[in-house]
Amino acid sequence: MPLVTIKTTIAGEEESLSEYLCDWSDCPNQAKHVVGVVRELRSVSMVCDEHWESILKQRRNNAA
Ligand SMILES: [Zn+2]
Repeated sequence: MPLVTIKTTIAGEEESLSEYLCDWSDCPNQAKHVVGVVRELRSVSMVCDEHWESILKQRRNNAA
């Protein structure tokens, strides 16, 4: 149950987050942001800083 593990990790030990890699395709960076379900990526749950910004920008564009 990965989602439960992630939520528990965030609430408790932040260091454990380093074990998660960005769910963006072919991205080797560490995941630092929980994004839940992202339509563009379908099943992504966590991404790195770089792709977190990309997702935020896309959401702003979609809302505009
Ligand atoms: Zn990434």
